[in-house]
Amino acid sequence: MIKHSFAGVMYMNLIDELKQKQTEMVSWRQHLHQFPEIAYEEVMTSDFVAAKLESFGIEVHRGLGKTGVVGVIHGQDSDDGVSPAIGLRADMDALPMEEQTNLAYASRHPNRMHACGHDGHTTMLLGAAEYLAKHRQFKGRVYCIFQPAEEGGNAGARSMINDGLFDRFPMDSVWGMHNWPGLETGQALAHIGPAMAGADIFILSIEGAGGHAAMPHQTRDPVVAAGMITVALQTLVSRQLDPMDQAVVSLTKLEAGSAFNVIPNIATIGGTLRTMKASTREYFLQQIEIVAKTAAKVTGCDVSMEIRPGYPPTINHEADALFARGVISDVLGPDGLDTELTPAMGAEDFSYMLQEKDGAYIWLGAGKESANLHSPLFDFNDELLPIGASLWVRIVEAKLSSQAG
Ligand SMILES: [Zn+2]
Ligand SMILES: [Zn+2]
Repeated sequence: MIKHSFAGVMYMNLIDELKQKQTEMVSWRQHLHQFPEIAYEEVMTSDFVAAKLESFGIEVHRGLGKTGVVGVIHGQDSDDGVSPAIGLRADMDALPMEEQTNLAYASRHPNRMHACGHDGHTTMLLGAAEYLAKHRQFKGRVYCIFQPAEEGGNAGARSMINDGLFDRFPMDSVWGMHNWPGLETGQALAHIGPAMAGADIFILSIEGAGGHAAMPHQTRDPVVAAGMITVALQTLVSRQLDPMDQAVVSLTKLEAGSAFNVIPNIATIGGTLRTMKASTREYFLQQIEIVAKTAAKVTGCDVSMEIRPGYPPTINHEADALFARGVISDVLGPDGLDTELTPAMGAEDFSYMLQEKDGAYIWLGAGKESANLHSPLFDFNDELLPIGASLWVRIVEAKLSSQAG
């Protein structure tokens, strides 16, 4: 039986058919949990997804972003190609880590684990797809997007876009959902604006002229330059960031020298930049280099910067976030909508999809008792399967209303 950990659960307005489907969905989810696959290796997973979609009578396209799958569900109208369309996205990949849950359905693949709940995300979307294909209470088209490689900076979302996701399957908006430990089961949230941070790595190479430690006047000392740069960069967030915006600049690697009596030729500083807005990210990436070069000037050293771009910030479109909040309130009841939780400084590659299309990213409460995402003790909360699937269906039906037009 389902145990309810949140009083608001009783007010939830879930779809009965999906509630009845829970046991079957749990079996799909626990099957996926046993056979986790990491970035671009989701062969068994994508086979499973494609087979399920086909068994629901859904048109299946494979091979986008190597292992990605798209299921196309047509609505009730005669498809003229101009009717509205939306994309629902689930991620399929697992993490390269050992599971420690000791569950009966724990991972059977060494050093592979569904520790972020993507097994559950895949299942929620499959459950919704089956319902949508059966009832078709909408106009236009729904694209069910099962993407590879969200984890580890592998950017499966971008790979699918590069393989023509939005050209081959033109859609007006795209929607993502992630289970969220720390938020009550039966609650959900769509941030207005930023939901997840962008994360970039930068490496500053400081080039001086080394020499004898006792004759500093004959050198240009990169160690002194590194110290000045380290201090100067602390002024970025404190003096150049709008107090209402959020960012982190952390210097995490500082390397120089090999002997106590030698001033080295070079020093390097490595760090990470986390931002919530594309404009802040761009500005800070420029400013890090400018501040570093300026601070190093007094030492006569040169500085060059390498940027290793990570995922951009995940930014919900305001109107779509408000729309999602309406659906959340309808499906989960008056207490089901959380508006308090602040955005997270972690990053998410659904950001690439939201850069190109309208839409929003929804956090679905996984319960306060859930282990954290990426913990070796994490297990997706199966109570969420009918909740997430109901939300997906109601988003489609509200967005592609069969009464409209
Ligand atoms: Zn993750
Ligand atoms: Zn995840």
